[in-house]
Amino acid sequence: MRSIIPTLLITLFLAACQQHELALDSSVGIRELTVLYSNDEHGWMEGREASTGAANLLGLWRQKEGYREDGPFLLLSGGDHWTGPAISTWFEGEGMVEVMNAMGYDATAIGNHEFDFGLDNLEQRIAQADYPYLAANIQWTANEAPPRDLGILASSVITVNGLRVAVIGLSTINTPSTTNPVNVAELTFLDYEPVLRKTAQQLRASDVQLTFVVAHVCMSALRPLADAVADLNISLMGGGHCNELVAEKVGDTILLESNGHFRTYARAHFKYDVNTDRLLTSNFSVEGNEYGISDPVVEQIISKWQAATESELSVVLGFNARELQATDDRLQRVVVESWLQMDSGADIAINNRLALRSPLPRGELTLADVVGLLPFENTIVAVELNGTEVLEVIAAGQNPFIAGLIRTENDWLLRKTGRLLDSAETYRVLVNSFMYEGGAGYGSIAEFDDAGFDTEIHYRQPLVEWLSTQSSSADRPLVFP
Ligand SMILES: [Zn+2]
Repeated sequence: MRSIIPTLLITLFLAACQQHELALDSSVGIRELTVLYSNDEHGWMEGREASTGAANLLGLWRQKEGYREDGPFLLLSGGDHWTGPAISTWFEGEGMVEVMNAMGYDATAIGNHEFDFGLDNLEQRIAQADYPYLAANIQWTANEAPPRDLGILASSVITVNGLRVAVIGLSTINTPSTTNPVNVAELTFLDYEPVLRKTAQQLRASDVQLTFVVAHVCMSALRPLADAVADLNISLMGGGHCNELVAEKVGDTILLESNGHFRTYARAHFKYDVNTDRLLTSNFSVEGNEYGISDPVVEQIISKWQAATESELSVVLGFNARELQATDDRLQRVVVESWLQMDSGADIAINNRLALRSPLPRGELTLADVVGLLPFENTIVAVELNGTEVLEVIAAGQNPFIAGLIRTENDWLLRKTGRLLDSAETYRVLVNSFMYEGGAGYGSIAEFDDAGFDTEIHYRQPLVEWLSTQSSSADRPLVFP
């Protein structure tokens, strides 16, 4: 009774003051909440095409969704914030966290690419972020403890518009094969369902009204998961990793995914009655990032990182004693070998010979020289091919350059095992995205494996890393093996 009397008095007072307020009285206790969702941003703060970047998206959210930082909104991400264009990769994701802080993100899943620059870097990025990085299914292998020392949390309870919302994170169990395995060697990625059940159980004590999941997990795994945990009353699951465009419902759970690179976003709107503790309505959709007026604050941050990227081009990576032509075998070999070094799970790397364009000059080598050598916006794609398919791909191309295989008089041996390529075995083969798209006569690659995995790693990045680790100088010039 005690709580009803003041409410009654307030109601009478408001009725006396203003008829308009009285009309709203029937909705007292109804709380609204809009979730704006992105995933697989991959460093594309500038956007892949003009006016489709982070600044435009924030502007669009303000115009179209009425978004404001202190309003009834939750900004969630499905992870993979970096590894992409130079503006993200050369600074190991720092600019992306700054952009996402400015946009007002509230929580994110941890994507496999969050591990690309090592655990120390991830710890720094998490410390820099104003929002938590969530994954309930990661633990240290040695002691089975959650990696809280890195700043990774299982879940976060966020109060927005008077609603207590639990957000639980999940990270793909394929992470060890989709980032450099060395970086996650000490971590275990656990199956989703048992972890989700345990975390949801622990959250019961936190008195939450809505439970959401942000998952760097493809829809092929997320749909059956939503079905399997229907009893947990999860209102929303956001996915990631497979760059799908999804707004749908499985049972009572809304599934969202935007296809990445800030090109689109997904949204869900909830109405919740706090008096009856019931979710009244929800709706959901996917939207294009178009016609948004660029947000000046985010635009300024992006300009700053663009300038930093420009100046980075003059950074000296090493010293070269003599000019090497783009067609030089030594140079070609170093490029494909650097891809294999980046991905120790891969068996073979194949690059089309014309992927290298300009000579590597004599003297000090800058990043600009490497950009000139490998000028295209290609990424490295990992495909699974059997021995016969590998041979067909090699034969189809015009004299491609190959790492991981040894040529004998009549055959090809796999360097890792010293054995002949086997039609009954599957090999992890790295190619560039131009080849995977069928360029230069390589159409058969995608026919053999139509689910090739785009690592999002730029095809020049492993060479940049190789050059930086050689510590060459005028006295000790680079050695091309
Ligand atoms: Zn991913």
